[in-house]
Amino acid sequence: MANYETQIVVIAAGPSGLASAVQAAEDGAEVIVLEKASAVGGAANMGMGPLGIGTKYQKQNMYEITVEKAFNMFMEYTHYNVDARVVKRYFEQSAETIEWLEEMGVEFEGAFKYFPKSEATWHIVKTDQGIGPRAASFMNKALYARAQELGVKVLLETPAKKVIMEDGQVAGVLATDKDGNEVEIKCKAAIICTGGAGCNPKFIEEETGYKSGEDMHNFQIPGIMGDGLKMAWEAGADHLPVRIEQAAAIEGVDDLPGSVGNIMSQPNLLVNLHGKRVMNEDQMQNTTFLSNVCSHQKDRVCVSIVDSSIAKYYMRNGVDNVSLVRTNPDVSDFIDAVKMAQANGNEGLFIADSIEELAEMAGIDVDNLVDTVDEYNDFCDSVDEEFFKDKRYLRPLTKAPYYAAKVRPGGYGTVGGIRINENCEACGSDFEPVKGLYAAGADACNLYDDSYMFLLPGNSMGWAVNSGRIAGMSAAEFVED
Ligand SMILES: Cc1cc2nc3c(=O)[nH]c(=O)nc-3n(C[C@H](O)[C@H](O)[C@H](O)COP(=O)(O)OP(=O)(O)OC[C@H]3O[C@@H](n4cnc5c(N)ncnc54)[C@H](O)[C@@H]3O)c2cc1C
Repeated sequence: MANYETQIVVIAAGPSGLASAVQAAEDGAEVIVLEKASAVGGAANMGMGPLGIGTKYQKQNMYEITVEKAFNMFMEYTHYNVDARVVKRYFEQSAETIEWLEEMGVEFEGAFKYFPKSEATWHIVKTDQGIGPRAASFMNKALYARAQELGVKVLLETPAKKVIMEDGQVAGVLATDKDGNEVEIKCKAAIICTGGAGCNPKFIEEETGYKSGEDMHNFQIPGIMGDGLKMAWEAGADHLPVRIEQAAAIEGVDDLPGSVGNIMSQPNLLVNLHGKRVMNEDQMQNTTFLSNVCSHQKDRVCVSIVDSSIAKYYMRNGVDNVSLVRTNPDVSDFIDAVKMAQANGNEGLFIADSIEELAEMAGIDVDNLVDTVDEYNDFCDSVDEEFFKDKRYLRPLTKAPYYAAKVRPGGYGTVGGIRINENCEACGSDFEPVKGLYAAGADACNLYDDSYMFLLPGNSMGWAVNSGRIAGMSAAEFVED
C-alpha cells in the first residue's frame, strides 16, 4: 500500500476539482488530486465554456446582465426552491473567475447566448480551431498546468474509494492505483468533485426513475458513476435529490449527420403519440424545456415533423435557429442524410408519402394527427390560437414526402445530491458541516430545482469552476486553523 500525507485531498480532476486544487494551493495549502481517468478535465472536455455575469466581455458589448438581474431571474425560475446564499455567492464571484482563468492563460471568444431567448452569459473558450465543442478542454489544460506550477500532486488512474472519518471529521482518503494497489492519504480535508453519475444507469434509475437508453438518452462520460455522491453520503453528508441536467435528444443523434439533428430541432410541428401538439414550438430552442415536454408525454416521446417544402426551405436558406454547438450549419444534405440514417438502421426517423402513412409509421394516432395538421395549416394562414407560436415559424405542411424524427428526454449528466452551504462545506441532515468535507461541481449542484437553467447558459461549468474555487478557499482556511 502506498501512503501519503497532505493537507487537502481533491477527489477528481474535472473543472471543479482542478479549480479547487488550484485555489487551495494559491491560498497556501498542500494538495493532492486523485483522478480516476488517465487524463484530466472530465465531462467539461466536451463542452465549450463557463458562465460569467457582469464580465468585461458583456460590458464591451453594452450587454446588460448584472448579478442582481441574473439572481432574480434564477430565483424566480426555481421558485426559490434552492439555496439563495449559494446562488448569490456563485454569481457574485463569476466575473472575477473569468479573469482568474485568463490570468492562467485561458482566452475567451466572448460572451454568447445559447439560443436567442437566453442571456449572453456563456463564455466560450478560445481554441486554435474556432468556436465549437471541446473548446473547454483548453480551459482544463490551463487549470492543470497551473496546478502543476503550484506543486499540486495529481495522481491519474487512481480512483478514490472512501473518505476516512475519525471522531466525526475527515482523516484521510482511500484510493486504488492503476495496478489495483491500495493508496492511503492522510489529510485534514477532502473535496469531492466526481461529476455526478451520468454513466451509471442503475444509479440514475434509482435516483431519478429514468431508464438510460430507454426513456433517457443522456451523455455517458466514462467513469462518472456516482462515486463521490456515495462517498459523501457514507461520510455523513445529507442526501439531496439527484436530477438529470436535461437536454432533449433526437433519437440516435450521435450517429446522425448534423443536418438531421439541426433541422429536426427547429421550431417545426411537434406532436405526441396521440397526434396532439404539445408546446409552443418556438420554445424548442431551449433544449431543457423540450426535454421536459417529452418527459410528460406517452412513452416519453415527441415527433418533430416537416414537409418537403419546409425541408427544402431549410436546405436552401439554412435553419431558423443556428446553434453554436452544431458547428456546421450546412443542412443541404438533409434528405440524403435521412435516407442514409434509415439505411443504417435508425428507427426514429420516418419518410412518408402522406400524413396518414407518417402517423402509422411513427405509432401516432392517425385521425388526430390528420386533424392536428389541418388545424395547424389553418393557423399558418392566421395565428396560432392553440399555443401562440411566433408567426415567423408557422409553415404549413402540405407537400409530400413528409419527414419526421422522434425526440426524447436526454441530458448532459446528473446534478445534485450532496447538501452544501455557501462555503461548499458538505452538510449533514442537521444542516451542520461535516468537518473537513467539501463538495463542488455536479455532485453539489442542487441549484436548478427540477429543471436546468438554460436561460443563463454556461451554468453548469460556471458552477463547477466557481464552486470548486469556493471549496478550495474554504478547505484551505480550514486546514490552516
Ligand atoms: C457534451 C457536453 C457539453 C457540455 N457543455 C457545457 C458548456 O459548454 N457549458 C457548461 O456550463 N456546461 C457544459 N457541460 C456540463 C459540464 O461539462 C459539467 O457541468 C462539468 O464538467 C461538471 O464538472 P465537474 O468537475 O463537476 O465534473 P466532471 O467534469 O464530470 O468531472 C468529473 C471527474 O471525476 C472523475 N472521477 C469520477 N469518479 C472518481 C473517483 N472515484 N475518483 C477520482 N476521480 C473520479 C472523472 O474521471 C472526471 O474526470 C457539458 C457537458 C457535456 C456532456
